[in-house]
Amino acid sequence: MRHIFFSLLFALFFTILVSPVSALAAKTIHVLASTFPIYQITRNVTLGVDGVELDLMIPAGLGCPHDYALTPQDMHKLAKADLLVINGLGMEEFLGAPLKKANAGLQIIDSSKGITPLPMREVEHDEVHDAHEVQHETGHHHHGSPNPHLFASPAMAALIAENIAQDLAIKYPEKAEQIRTNGTAYSKKMRTLAHKMKQTGSTLRNNRIVTQHGVFDYLARDMGLEVVAVVQAHAGQNPSASEMLSIVSIIKSSKAGAIFTEPQYPEAIGRTLAREAGIKSARLDPAATGPELAPIDYYQQIMQANLKTLVDTLGSR
Ligand SMILES: [Zn+2]
Repeated sequence: MRHIFFSLLFALFFTILVSPVSALAAKTIHVLASTFPIYQITRNVTLGVDGVELDLMIPAGLGCPHDYALTPQDMHKLAKADLLVINGLGMEEFLGAPLKKANAGLQIIDSSKGITPLPMREVEHDEVHDAHEVQHETGHHHHGSPNPHLFASPAMAALIAENIAQDLAIKYPEKAEQIRTNGTAYSKKMRTLAHKMKQTGSTLRNNRIVTQHGVFDYLARDMGLEVVAVVQAHAGQNPSASEMLSIVSIIKSSKAGAIFTEPQYPEAIGRTLAREAGIKSARLDPAATGPELAPIDYYQQIMQANLKTLVDTLGSR
C-alpha cells in the first residue's frame, strides 16, 4: 500500500515536471510595485486578471521615496517577486546594488519609458544659483536630473498605464487580452479626467501657484498652471531663512494665488510663507500616499477633490 502511494506520488511529481505548460498556467505571477501611485495604476491594469498577485513594496503612507533606504521587509518582497514595476526617472535610486543581491533574475517594467520628462526645477534663490554656477565651471545651470513625479498628472498617468499594460501583455501573453483591455479602459478614464482638469485650469482666476516640492510640475503643465516657486528646493528639506524671504518676494512680484502644501510633508512652513506673503494656502494631494486599503478609484477621488480645492482657492472666472 505504502509502495503504491509513493509510486503515485512520484508519478504525479514527474507529470508536473514534464508538463511545463500546465505547470506555468497554474503558477501565480508575483508582481511588485515600488510606490503607492504605481501600485494603484498597476492594480487597475491587472484588475480581475487570474494568476497575478500584486503587492506594494514601500508603505502606502510613506510618499515619495526620495531619501529612502531599503528595509529587510522590502528585500523579502523583492526576493519573492517575479516582476517589479517602477516609477522610473530616478525615483528608485535606493534600489541599486541590493536589488541584484535580493533577486538577480527579477524583471523590471519602467512605467516612465518613452515619456519625455521635465527637468527638476532649479532653486529660485539667487545665492544658490551662484553656488551652482561656481560648482559647474561652465556657468550653465545644472539641469541634470529629470522630474520623476509623472503620476500626479492624469494625462501622464494615462501614459504610465499604457506602458505597464503593454509590457505586462508582452511578458505574459496568455493574459495579454485582459491586461490590454484594462489598460485601455484605465488610460481612457485618465484622459477624461485630464481633460476636465485642463478645462478647469483654463477657467481659474489666478493660475500662478507655489508648491511644496516638485511633485505638481507635470500636473501644472498639463492644466496650464504656472509653478512660480517651490517651498522645498530639495524634497523633505526645509528652506533657510533667506530662501524663505526669497520665496515671499517671488510670490509678491509674480502675484501668485496660493501656496499648496501636500499631505506627505509638514504644512507649517507653507502656511507661514502664505501668511507672510498675504496669500491663501491649501492642501493639494498628489496621491503619492494613500491608505493601506485604498479603493480602486482612489486616484480619481483625490483628483476630483484637488479640482475643488483649486477652484475654491484660486477662484474661477
Ligand atoms: Zn517627490
